[in-house]
Amino acid sequence: MALKPGERVVIVGCGPVGMVLTLALYRKGIPVTLLERADAPIEDQRAAAIQPSSLEMLAELGITDEIHQRGLISPTFHYRDRASGELVAEFDFSTLDDMTDFPYVIQYEQFKLVETIIREIGETPDVALRFSCEVTGHVQDSEGVEISFSNEIGEMESIRTPWVVGCDGFSSVVRQAAEIDFVGFTYPEKFVKIGSDFDFQEAGQALCIRNFFSDPGEWCNLFKVNGYGPPGIWRTVFPVPADEPDEECLSHEGVQARLQKFFPKDGDYNIIYTGLYHVHQRVAESFRKGRVVVAGDAAHVNNPIGGLGMNGGIHDAVALGDRLSKVAAGAPAELLDLYSRQRHKAQMDGVQATSIANKKLMEATDPAIRREQLDAVRATAENPAKARAYCLNAALYTSLEKANAVI
Ligand SMILES: Cc1cc2nc3c(=O)[nH]c(=O)nc-3n(C[C@H](O)[C@H](O)[C@H](O)COP(=O)(O)OP(=O)(O)OC[C@H]3O[C@@H](n4cnc5c(N)ncnc54)[C@H](O)[C@@H]3O)c2cc1C
Repeated sequence: MALKPGERVVIVGCGPVGMVLTLALYRKGIPVTLLERADAPIEDQRAAAIQPSSLEMLAELGITDEIHQRGLISPTFHYRDRASGELVAEFDFSTLDDMTDFPYVIQYEQFKLVETIIREIGETPDVALRFSCEVTGHVQDSEGVEISFSNEIGEMESIRTPWVVGCDGFSSVVRQAAEIDFVGFTYPEKFVKIGSDFDFQEAGQALCIRNFFSDPGEWCNLFKVNGYGPPGIWRTVFPVPADEPDEECLSHEGVQARLQKFFPKDGDYNIIYTGLYHVHQRVAESFRKGRVVVAGDAAHVNNPIGGLGMNGGIHDAVALGDRLSKVAAGAPAELLDLYSRQRHKAQMDGVQATSIANKKLMEATDPAIRREQLDAVRATAENPAKARAYCLNAALYTSLEKANAVI
């Protein structure tokens, strides 16, 4: 059903996925109202890795110049053995330069991606960004959806739209109000992220910008981002056992002990930020129910090893921008079911499968299994054809190919 004059698509959530979708619809001339509960875009320090496949999509939307200027280009990533420090395998996205203009990851914090898009859209009557607006529920009928939210002055308001898209993250009210099941599991342990300005690379560790340290006791991921630098920030991510109290983990002593155990040095680490996260593998049973659609973390969540979650959400947003703009122009609404089937497939076979395998590689405790896994990843890196296939999967090209094969 085509949008009537004055009607707007409503997007809930001003995270990276909500904003990429807003930009995709704006480029197609579809008017959008976006509702965000925070009073301004959130300085969220979770995602940073933007994969080559996502860079191609963001280039189509015209925003990669700023991402290149402000981000850190990272063609390679390393698997290391934490105990010995040995470099087990290096993968190099440069080998994909025959198929993409972007044969690298760019480390660009997710809040900067949101900032870039808000700047790109600028002031226009076609996009209304409404902050301090928390959605509390919705009711749909055959013609549209009535969305309830508390507005900028704390009063309850409702808005009617032909289509609402929940980009409102893991606890999505939009998904829950539509009674869409979120199928999967939650890991018992949490993950802690610690940002420090200590330069691990300069400390002589022969690191690249994205490093995965496997360890049966405590694995670690180590990445660099620009922050407000240069010189930039090194982020470490560690697992936190279920019985470790949050306050202990995030205390000065707890944070210093974790970093000193990982890389002993004189004096305290200077800490820029920390974050403690529950980690899940869950996918919505469907990404569409009637006039309600979900995308990004509202539709799927995964552990962050490999830097895939936000990228899967960017892929959702671009696919949905295309389908929804056609539906808003009068194409059959079944196009949204195609979106749902394709992106569900991309999640199950791509992001979920890969992130679960990545975590297993990091944490295997049985020495024989651990040796077997590390030998396998080393052998893959040493075989050019297998290394290319590995890179295509890590960069989410394989998931896109599988999704596009779904009809
Ligand atoms: C430690 C860590 C590291 C990560 N690193 C990476 C990485 O390098 N690469 C990668 O691809 N992914 C990564 N991820 C995953 C990534 O952070 C998420 O996939 C991404 O933030 C999802 O974006 P989103 O826009 O769907 O949701 P969110 O970023 O969660 O945004 C949701 C928005 O909706 C708003 N909202 C929520 N409820 C309401 C409501 N009721 N009404 C109005 N507004 C509402 C919120 O305030 C928020 O602004 C990482 C995750 C973690 C935990």
